[in-house]
Amino acid sequence: MSTLDILFSGFFRRETAVGRSEEERIADILKIAESCPTGKKVLDDARDRHPRLKIRLVPGMEHMGGYNPRGWTISLNPSFCDEKLVTTLIHEASHSLQDETIFEPANLKSMIMSTRACEADASAHEAAVATELGGKVREEYARMHPGIYRAYSQTLQESGDSRRAFAEAFKAWYDVRPYVALYDARVLKYANKLDHIMPSTEFTPEKILRAAVPAAAEGKRYITEDASFLTEKRFLTLSRKTLFKARYVSLMYGDGSLNGTFVEGKDGTVKPYRSISLKRTLKSLVGVDKGRGA
Ligand SMILES: [Zn+2]
Repeated sequence: MSTLDILFSGFFRRETAVGRSEEERIADILKIAESCPTGKKVLDDARDRHPRLKIRLVPGMEHMGGYNPRGWTISLNPSFCDEKLVTTLIHEASHSLQDETIFEPANLKSMIMSTRACEADASAHEAAVATELGGKVREEYARMHPGIYRAYSQTLQESGDSRRAFAEAFKAWYDVRPYVALYDARVLKYANKLDHIMPSTEFTPEKILRAAVPAAAEGKRYITEDASFLTEKRFLTLSRKTLFKARYVSLMYGDGSLNGTFVEGKDGTVKPYRSISLKRTLKSLVGVDKGRGA
C-alpha cells in the first residue's frame, strides 16, 4: 500500500463515517452487500435461520468483525471503510450458517480442522461477493486476500461454474500459511483457556465439512469430493511455531491427535508429524542416564 493509498483511505473512512448514525451506516453496508446474488442469499439465509440476527458496530473491537452464536450477533469494526465491512459482514453471516456443534469439545486435531474449514468457507463467500460486486469492494478484498480472490475469479472465468470457484477459493484459504497459523493460535489459546480439549473425541472429516459448508437448498454442497482431502498435506500442515505451542497443550491434556498432522521443516519441506510420547521420552532419558553411568 502506498503512502497516498494510506492517506486517501483514511480520508475516505472519515468522509463516509461522518454524519451517519450506526443504523444508517449498517443500512448502507447491507444495501451494498445485498445488491449481488451471493450477498443477498447469504444474508437472507442468515435471517431465515436466526430471525433475531443483529448487526452492530463496535468501536475499538480487536478484529474487523466477529459473530457471536449465543446472541446471534454480528459485530463490525467501524474504523474500517464500508467496502471492507461489506465482505466482513458476508464473512460473519456465513459463520452464522455453519453448524455450531462443530465447536463442542474435541481433540486438538479436530478443533484445528473445524476452525480452518469454517474460516475457509466464510472466506470463499467473501471472494464470491467481492467478485460479483466489483469496484472498490473487489479492490479491497483482492488486496487483502490476493490468492483466495484469484482462485475464485479465475476458476469462475475459466469454467463459468460458481460452485467450482467456491471450492477453489475454499482450498486456496489453506495456502495463506501466516493466516492459517493465526487461526491455529486462536484455537490453541481458546482450547487451553476454557479447558475445552476432549482427547477421546475426534470429528470425522465428513462431519467437519458438513458443518463448515452448509448444503444449498437443493441439498448440494459446493465441494462434492470426499471430505478426506481435509487430511492431506495442503490442508493439515502446522507451522513450526504452532506445533511448538500445540505440543505443550497436547502433553498437558494427554492428547495424541497431532499424530496424523503434518509439520513444516526448517528447510521448508513438509513431513508427517510423529509425536514422542511421555513414556518414550522418559524411557530415552533413563536410557541416557544408564548409558552415562556405565
Ligand atoms: Zn471467520
